[in-house]
Amino acid sequence: MNERPSYQALLKERSHLLEQLGNSPPVLRGSLRQHMNRCGNPGCRCHDEDKPVLHGPYQYLSHRHQNRTQTILLTESKLPHAREWVANYRRLIQTVYRLAEVNFKILRFHHANLDRKS
Ligand SMILES: [Zn+2]
Repeated sequence: MNERPSYQALLKERSHLLEQLGNSPPVLRGSLRQHMNRCGNPGCRCHDEDKPVLHGPYQYLSHRHQNRTQTILLTESKLPHAREWVANYRRLIQTVYRLAEVNFKILRFHHANLDRKS
């Protein structure tokens, strides 16, 4: 049986979600990518015509904003932060989606209550 959550349960879930939003950790929008690279030294084996041996793989963060994509090379010290912040961003968006869903259900309850009063 599909039981609807009670109005009180929705309010409780909403305050829980708002609490989560209030404790938001650093967020970062973007995706992590790996690339092999050629360096600037023409004599290097990465420029070999037959069997180029590229450098890498290097980790990058790719960030798109206003139709422009920018990338940051992620050094060993930056990589864990980028991973964590991107994951935080996804979690935060999920929380906002859930919050909007809960508010939709709450609004539906309000509507039902108003009907009952009239
Ligand atoms: Zn090279």
